[in-house]
Amino acid sequence: MSACFKGRVALVSGAASGIGRATAQILSRRGAAVCVADLDADGAQRVAAELVEAGGSALAVAMDVSTEAGNVDVVEQVMQKFGRLDVVHLNAGILSVGSLLETDLATWQRVLDVNLTAVFLGIKHTAPLLAVQGGSIVVTASFAGREGSYGMSSYVASKHGVTGLVKAAASELGPMGVRVNAVCPGPIYTDMMITAGSLDEVNASPVARTTMLERVGEAREVAELVCFLASDAASFITGAIHAVDGGMPVIGKPPA
Ligand code: NAD
Repeated sequence: MSACFKGRVALVSGAASGIGRATAQILSRRGAAVCVADLDADGAQRVAAELVEAGGSALAVAMDVSTEAGNVDVVEQVMQKFGRLDVVHLNAGILSVGSLLETDLATWQRVLDVNLTAVFLGIKHTAPLLAVQGGSIVVTASFAGREGSYGMSSYVASKHGVTGLVKAAASELGPMGVRVNAVCPGPIYTDMMITAGSLDEVNASPVARTTMLERVGEAREVAELVCFLASDAASFITGAIHAVDGGMPVIGKPPA
């Protein structure tokens, strides 16, 4: 398993932090050259430097995933530096919390642009390169994109759009040798959640009890599934929506 990405090239968006960073680290450890793409230019540089420091090969690219120019540019940079593309993790995302009736159009549009339109653009601009030798796209959706979640309508709508787009893309790209899957994390301890307190504090909070394991997940636990789906071990898996959420939802559980 440890060298299963030897000779492969991967592009990970939202890789400066959280789930994307964890995926970049595992792919790099297992032999892939990794493009670390993120809106946070310094963060992308930092993570790429970590990978190189650990003996890997990496490229940092500052990009806004919601723009077509950013998607064209990142693919050009990957091809210039590494000459091929095998694995794509479309992972960058933003969360907006608030009632539907109070959500303004600009917020709605931004969440849809970053979480959904960016996935369309990412698939459109990477699939032709993956098709050259065959490849795999994994998209980070969410529990909110399978079951919904209270008080985050733009996020829920964008992530449901992502799961639909993954199924549609997989059916068109399958004959070209490109697999497309979605992962749906439950509550994961990343920057989004770290503001809520330490891991122990978060695990003692009601959000942890929404999972059957009674804890939140860690970024590497999502990244392991992403890397399995990206690998040849998952060669007959496509168009599927995979939960990685500690078992959700728990219905009818008595209060602590
Ligand atoms: P995170 O905030 O740690 O990482 C998100 C990364 O995306 C950041 O580095 C950020 O700079 C980058 N980003 C944001 N907007 C961007 C843009 N327009 N262009 C390029 N990069 C951009 O959060 P995370 O939890 O690692 O989130 C990764 C994905 O996981 C997101 O799609 C999120 O919706 C999803 N997710 C997270 C959780 C959770 O509980 N943390 C649960 C379900 C799904």
